[in-house]
Amino acid sequence: MDKLKVAVLGATGLVGQAFISMLSKHPWFEVEAVAASPAKAGVKYGEAVSWHLEEPIPPEVSGQTLKEPVPEKLSKDIDLVFSALPSNAASEVEPLFARAGYIVVSNASPFRMDPDVPLIVPEVNPDHLRLLGEQRRRRGWRGALVKNPNCSTAILVLTLKPLMDSFGLKRAVVTTLQALSGAGYRGVPGMAILDNVLPYIPGEEEKLMYEPRKILGTLEGGWVKHAEIPVSATTTRVPTLHGHLESVHVELGEDTDTRSLVEALENFGGLPQKLGLPTAPPAPVIVRHGEDRPQPRLDRDAGGGMSVVVGRVQHASLLGDAWFRYLVLGHNLVRGAAGNAILIAELMVRLGQKH
Ligand code: NAP
Repeated sequence: MDKLKVAVLGATGLVGQAFISMLSKHPWFEVEAVAASPAKAGVKYGEAVSWHLEEPIPPEVSGQTLKEPVPEKLSKDIDLVFSALPSNAASEVEPLFARAGYIVVSNASPFRMDPDVPLIVPEVNPDHLRLLGEQRRRRGWRGALVKNPNCSTAILVLTLKPLMDSFGLKRAVVTTLQALSGAGYRGVPGMAILDNVLPYIPGEEEKLMYEPRKILGTLEGGWVKHAEIPVSATTTRVPTLHGHLESVHVELGEDTDTRSLVEALENFGGLPQKLGLPTAPPAPVIVRHGEDRPQPRLDRDAGGGMSVVVGRVQHASLLGDAWFRYLVLGHNLVRGAAGNAILIAELMVRLGQKH
């Protein structure tokens, strides 16, 4: 098939660069337009970007001129818009694109918890894309807005879903050790993070508490009934570059053994694997058995950054018979951002929901 033309908003940022890199090798999509902040409109991408990836800037994008991030500046034959905008810009700009008829798949937090906005991890809740019918009816948009969850949430729910399906899930307690790139290119000053751990990331704990409930919820009467799973979250920033590590305790609905739990995680797969989507990793959850895994440097690129890596699965019987604990690690820019969004877009194309 002819490649579909896509635009990337926020293309010069860290998530934007991950989009450009992944899309340059994509079998279905090609980057037709790039936009950054309005001040950079008119500048060539290769001159405007502080490129942080080891591979060179893809030549077919390097020479493209940055557009203003408004729908009037995009050509009408763009099939999909990926957004890596900061929150304040996203809340203004994304509805303009959706109203103008574009499908927007976004990483930014505004609208994530709106009842008519699908918040998707494709292996976990692909059926929530059905909210788009209601979204169009309510908002009168010709296009649509679909959201990626917060990066730590996307990584966490890939492990909670198989546990919930196999054993039931009563509650979860999670502490994150989040990498620097999760805060964006200008996010955390070196003086604040070198030789240090920051014990608070504004807004992050609330996202981890509430987003999993929506993603793990069920469609009932056309709406998502949120899962009644309390999640207690502590989020910290640590001086790693990429890859969020999360220490997780879960209370399951029934007692089991660690072997069954590992099996449930290892056997997990979803619609993207069944459909053989190009960005779907063969195993969304990989379990490492060495006691010193997962580690950000060694494990963040598993499955091209699309798999999450679990280790140190143990019975936490001091807390109760049905309590278990484990560590999970995922690449925040790939599974936590650009890769998950591209997988959502692939799913929409395959399910015929592109228009
Ligand atoms: P970033 O590195 O700060 O990049 C921000 C991008 O937005 C840049 O391209 C910037 O362009 C552009 N921009 C800034 N102000 C703008 C405006 N007023 N209008 C239009 N564009 C504007 O941030 P990031 O880490 O890539 O994150 C992007 C989004 O994804 C955020 O909403 C973030 O919360 C979310 N997210 C990030 C991660 C992660 O791991 N980093 C994971 C999940 C979700 P200039 O170059 O011109 O400044």
